[in-house]
Amino acid sequence: MAPAARKKVLHKVADRIEAEALELAVLGVRDNGTELNMALKAEPGSAAGTFRYYAEALDKVYGEIAPTAPDVLGLVHREPVGVVGAIVPWNFPLMIGAWKLAPALAAGNSVVLKPAETASLSLLRLAEICMECGLPDGVLNVVTGQGSVAGEALALSHDVDVLVFTGSGATGRRLLQYSAASNLKRVYLELGGKSPNVVFADAPDLAQAAKVSAMGIFRNSGQVCVAGSRLLVERSIHDDFVSMLADEAKKLRVGDPLDLSSQVGAINSETQLMGNLGFVEDAIKEGNTIALGGSRILESTGGYYMEPTIITDVAPGHRVAREEVFGPVLAVTAFDSDEDALRIANSTDYGLAAGVWTSNLSRAHRMVAGIRAGVVHVNTYGGSDNTVPLGGVKQSGNGHDKSMHAFDKYFDLKTAWMQL
Ligand code: NAD
Repeated sequence: MAPAARKKVLHKVADRIEAEALELAVLGVRDNGTELNMALKAEPGSAAGTFRYYAEALDKVYGEIAPTAPDVLGLVHREPVGVVGAIVPWNFPLMIGAWKLAPALAAGNSVVLKPAETASLSLLRLAEICMECGLPDGVLNVVTGQGSVAGEALALSHDVDVLVFTGSGATGRRLLQYSAASNLKRVYLELGGKSPNVVFADAPDLAQAAKVSAMGIFRNSGQVCVAGSRLLVERSIHDDFVSMLADEAKKLRVGDPLDLSSQVGAINSETQLMGNLGFVEDAIKEGNTIALGGSRILESTGGYYMEPTIITDVAPGHRVAREEVFGPVLAVTAFDSDEDALRIANSTDYGLAAGVWTSNLSRAHRMVAGIRAGVVHVNTYGGSDNTVPLGGVKQSGNGHDKSMHAFDKYFDLKTAWMQL
């Protein structure tokens, strides 16, 4: 399809996502329990923007003429890779699905997308929308099913040229093995995190830092890949800051995800809830202090809700500081100096996101340079848009979603070397 025609289809898809925002958000929330308030912005709101971004980008990327000797013409063509396999998780299926689909389709590929077992409704609706907007039959295929069945088949397929994935490290490792065992397809992984949020005593506004840090871990019940799940606080303000943060957490209304006044929704599944509670039990065994929460709540509703939980006296080696909980559980550690903060911040296998709160510009730059992560937020936590890449270093992954950097994944380069 000509780029101009592709652009038209993708803009129409964005229009329809905007027009059906509430329906799409509710479909997702019924699957995964995210509070509707947040889902509306993060899911259809973000997905429509992503479709528009790549619709606009697709006719602004050119091939190249290489600076060869004069008797040769070296052309570098950008070609679609062919078939893209995409496997996505249950948190933010529409947003993350769009991060893969929009650039893959914009680049001229066809896509086979496998949603998570517990969150496929909004992506199935998106596939219908794409068809209704003129995407040719067969260009987008949404295949639901178990990861170990449908996901594995997709990852092992010799017909898939590039595999893009968001999910856990354990599955990411398998996908690399499937690629090695099949056709050596390129595999791009967006994995988990254990992101440090570092608060210095000279933060410009500690009350604001406490408020934003609370949302940085507790929104969507902590089921956010970039959640600021490790709070590192300068020792001189440790007790005061933890108490301010606990006050913010206590104010959050946890409840029915479909109620627009709920600020924190439900845990995705019983397995996930039990896993979260297991982290609390282990923290107690390791001598950590449960400063707030730690328990299941609203059990009588039949839903899986958990109190925003703050665990203090956590050392970098403790389980709750090392492993991703993917729940509303914050691990707090005190630090004494910039070097100490950097050492603790980097004492993890992950490298997805981080936060730094300080009014010292030099310190902010030193921390941004020193923390190994895909994104470092300064005097805020969690902001982003389509213009900047999202991806991890270390065991948080090897690829990026969003921005023009993500677009490159969906092209092959072909050289034409012509003797003149
Ligand atoms: P998961 O790895 O269990 O599942 C993700 C997807 O992989 C699902 O669609 C699942 O069906 C599929 N899958 C599972 N086993 C498979 C197999 N053997 N072969 C092929 N596919 C398989 O992860 P999850 O629990 O759904 O999601 C939570 C994880 O995702 C967390 O670790 C979180 O940090 C991460 N995440 C990362 C980002 C990011 O951008 N880096 C964003 C959101 C979530």
